[in-house]
Amino acid sequence: MPDVVTPDRLESAVETGLDGRGISGDQALLLMDHAPLSVLCEAASTIRNRSKGRAVSYSRKVFIPLTHLCRDYCGYCTFRADPSPGVRPYMLPDEVLAVAEAGRRAGCKEALFSLGDQPERVFPEARAFLRSMGFDRTLEYLAAMCELVLEKTGLLPHSNPGLMPREDLWRLRETNVSVGLMFEAASTRLLRPGGAHWKAPDKVPLLRLRTIESAGELSMAFTTGILIGIGETNEERVNALLLIRAAHEKYGHIQEVIIQPFRAKPDIRMADSPEPTKADLQRTIAVARLIFGGHVNIQSPPNLLSEDYLELLNAGINDWGGISPVTKDFINPETAWPQIPALAARTASAGFVLRERLAIYPEFSSRPKFVRDRLEPHLQKIRNEDGYARSNQC
Ligand code: SF4
Repeated sequence: MPDVVTPDRLESAVETGLDGRGISGDQALLLMDHAPLSVLCEAASTIRNRSKGRAVSYSRKVFIPLTHLCRDYCGYCTFRADPSPGVRPYMLPDEVLAVAEAGRRAGCKEALFSLGDQPERVFPEARAFLRSMGFDRTLEYLAAMCELVLEKTGLLPHSNPGLMPREDLWRLRETNVSVGLMFEAASTRLLRPGGAHWKAPDKVPLLRLRTIESAGELSMAFTTGILIGIGETNEERVNALLLIRAAHEKYGHIQEVIIQPFRAKPDIRMADSPEPTKADLQRTIAVARLIFGGHVNIQSPPNLLSEDYLELLNAGINDWGGISPVTKDFINPETAWPQIPALAARTASAGFVLRERLAIYPEFSSRPKFVRDRLEPHLQKIRNEDGYARSNQC
């Protein structure tokens, strides 16, 4: 027989979160399913304010889509592409450098490399391009491009290339101040025919967890998160957050957790799937804050929910993610990035202060274990005493 939901149980779960003791899976699910949204948001805001004060951060970045080729076919993706005649499968080094240089001139400090997962395993065109450049694998080419951008522009690379075996993480560690992989979902059901992760072999939750844990073993600051509204249950959503928390408890390397809502777009397989509501997003952000406590940074990107800034802040986030004054957002190209001054104004009107951070958060950039010696001089040029970015104008 299922446990009875009583006000006492709800209150006790909220109290546990407020005490910073870390709520259990049962408590998280109870709150997700039954707590009034206003109670959740109030508790999440209290926890966030206690640890983060009134600072809400963002990173000024350029977006470098090294390749759109991907061996996966996620049902919600508009980024991926198959090889196409007349389209070069990867950006060339000069193109990479030109984008990064434009970013540097505009005051950006992060080079976000986004790309499809392991295209060379299925596309001869990808293998041929890589061979012509002297590489066997996309992740090797990525490492070389990170090196180029770091040395020529001083932008700090942050790579988000899909699964990363340990040896690739080891290589990327030389140039990347942090790396990222969205965990997305803990549910293997989504891999079944018709599911969001059908024909997406790199979306097996255990494989993604392995990358997250390998980065922890190598003391690499790590960005991850979940994608909500892709067919997962509340229980599976909570499980995904708990698995991320367990990795963080083991290695202490999760610098931010992103709560990203699924958005329906006309040209995707899931075009007709319902989007999560604003309340669902707020509820998930707030429960995530109660799960992770005050110290982990929680992000939800503002461009995905046009005017809903205040609601996201009220739910307990303390970061807006990467904002680019130069390149459009290739993951969600139809929603323009908000301009930074507008974001600052809206953040201020909600009673917060917008702070520019680096691709590595302040609490990680001051820990030698997380920063390679060769990266320290690069960081010092653009980092303030408090770990945030030195201010500049875009
Ligand atoms: S792995 Fe990433 S790029 Fe590839 S289809 Fe899925 S979401 Fe798109």
